[in-house]
Amino acid sequence: MNLTPSPLVLLSPDCTRVLRTENGERAQLDDVAAERLRTRQSGVPVSVDALDVELIEAGLLVVDDLSDALVEQRRARTRHRRTSKGQLVVMPTERCDLRCTYCYETFERGGMAPELVAGLQTYLIDAVSRHDRFDLAWFGGEPLLQFTTVRDVSRTFRQAAEARGIDHVISMTTNGHRLTRSRAEQLDGLIDVYQITLDGPRVVHDSRRVNIRGGGTYDRILANVETLLQCSTSEVTLRINMDPSNESESDKIIAWIRDDLRVRFHSFLERIDIHIVATWDASTTSIDGICLRDAGLARGWLSVREAESAMRGSSIEEDLAQTMSTPGSRSCYAASPHSYVIGADGRAFKCSVAFDLDENHVGQLHADGTLTVDEDRERLWIGETSESDPVCGRCSFSTACEGSFCPLVRIQTGQRPCPTEKTFAPQILDRSILHGNARYVSIPTETITTRGGSTR
Ligand code: SF4
Ligand code: SF4
Repeated sequence: MNLTPSPLVLLSPDCTRVLRTENGERAQLDDVAAERLRTRQSGVPVSVDALDVELIEAGLLVVDDLSDALVEQRRARTRHRRTSKGQLVVMPTERCDLRCTYCYETFERGGMAPELVAGLQTYLIDAVSRHDRFDLAWFGGEPLLQFTTVRDVSRTFRQAAEARGIDHVISMTTNGHRLTRSRAEQLDGLIDVYQITLDGPRVVHDSRRVNIRGGGTYDRILANVETLLQCSTSEVTLRINMDPSNESESDKIIAWIRDDLRVRFHSFLERIDIHIVATWDASTTSIDGICLRDAGLARGWLSVREAESAMRGSSIEEDLAQTMSTPGSRSCYAASPHSYVIGADGRAFKCSVAFDLDENHVGQLHADGTLTVDEDRERLWIGETSESDPVCGRCSFSTACEGSFCPLVRIQTGQRPCPTEKTFAPQILDRSILHGNARYVSIPTETITTRGGSTR
């Protein structure tokens, strides 16, 4: 009988801490149990004894056949989640009133034509009748430059989704610059979640997120966020982009979260989420641009995340547990078979970044509400996931990532696009990443156990 750590469990580097990805539970193990897990992980043959039985009963060790069954069960759940949910990310305009220093948009196309807006509404009404869940996400360009389209289409979609009784969320990624009280009030009850970027305190934000004349935008956006929280019931995700150009400012960002945001928004903390996005090289979509492997940079990023977790009364380990146990929480919509990004001219894409890539242009939304799709191109995005990749299937991060953190990386490099959190998850579990001295941390590779033993 070959025993191996369960593919549904994350182990800290020394195996003294475990996290179950089925429910997010964490546990501390004694030295004897940890030593046995290390032995089983290494594949060294040891005869089975009472300690192994205890670890099997605790769900930490499994026999080969059960390990395969657990992987298949998780794949079936992933398949159901991916196929029952639909999503449309819509760019009502590709123009924007800011010129952020790291932005990749080319601002080529203006507002969506009225006949296409009508087609979009027809498509959405039909889509809610075909799914258990469907989300609408406004994106851009700056969607508030097409305020009436956003308001009217959101209303049509909400009415159709409520009439069918399906789960749905309407969100908007906006720079917040034009989010006046009047607009916020008109959109109350229509936009459930706003994602607004504030890249840190005024001095950091204003060096990166500038208006067309190059002026700072911090004060106006922050005031608009405050008004939004006061006059609506919407939730707000504040996005902080971190890359090598502002990583050295992480101490300032931590102090800003603790001393400014937390105080300013103390009555609204339940409706605010801070999303720290590590973009390690905005000029490339290669794996090195998207996934952070440098432990020194990771410490800065994780320290900011730790401050954000503390602001919500949580901790970085609790957030890791939540992420790892939430199906699809780190999977990109581009890998979903019923998810498209619709440009202002009706072109349909899978990815909301690589608009110049031919493979990303997979179809067209028409004025009559139909969507034509090139299935060969679409297969590039949805074909390689944890359902087909054997390493992803056995990865403890697979519940969250589904092998689809960034399908673009897979397409361009052929490598698995493991998110930064997965790379450092074992160290986060015992916090050694925050307190250790290592500059570079090797990427943990999943152990694939075969009947002949263990291979890396
Ligand atoms: S495929 Fe990658 S780059 Fe494109 S939207 Fe998804 S995560 Fe972003
Ligand atoms: S891409 Fe990486 S993190 Fe995601 S499931 Fe595959 S091995 Fe795990």
